[in-house]
Order: sequence, then structure tokens, then C-alpha cells
Amino acid sequence: MSNGTAVMGKMNSKKVHIRCRRCGHHAYHIREKRCAHCGFPAPRLRSYKWAKAK
Ligand SMILES: [Zn+2]
Repeated sequence: MSNGTAVMGKMNSKKVHIRCRRCGHHAYHIREKRCAHCGFPAPRLRSYKWAKAK
């Protein structure tokens, strides 16, 4: 009876990212204690040349 969406109920069960206080994005990883967007608390902003700022 599994139609492929049985795991959908487990989505969002763990809160991994919270709002970053530096960049404001919902990208601060709680367990890693690091923002996935700006790299907080790293002193330099996380940036890659393949991720061009708009
Ligand atoms: Zn951030």
C-alpha cells in the first residue's frame, strides 16, 4: 500500500536550521552551529564564485 509518499510525514520533524542573526536567512544549522548561507560564525562571509549575488 505504499505509494511513495509514506515518508512525507517525517519531513520537517527535526528543526535543523533556524534564522541566522547575521544574514537573516533561515539557514543557521543548530547542530553544526554554522549558517549555511553566510557561514556565521565565521568572520568572513561565505561566498563562492558560482553563487553570484543578485
Ligand atoms: Zn547567515
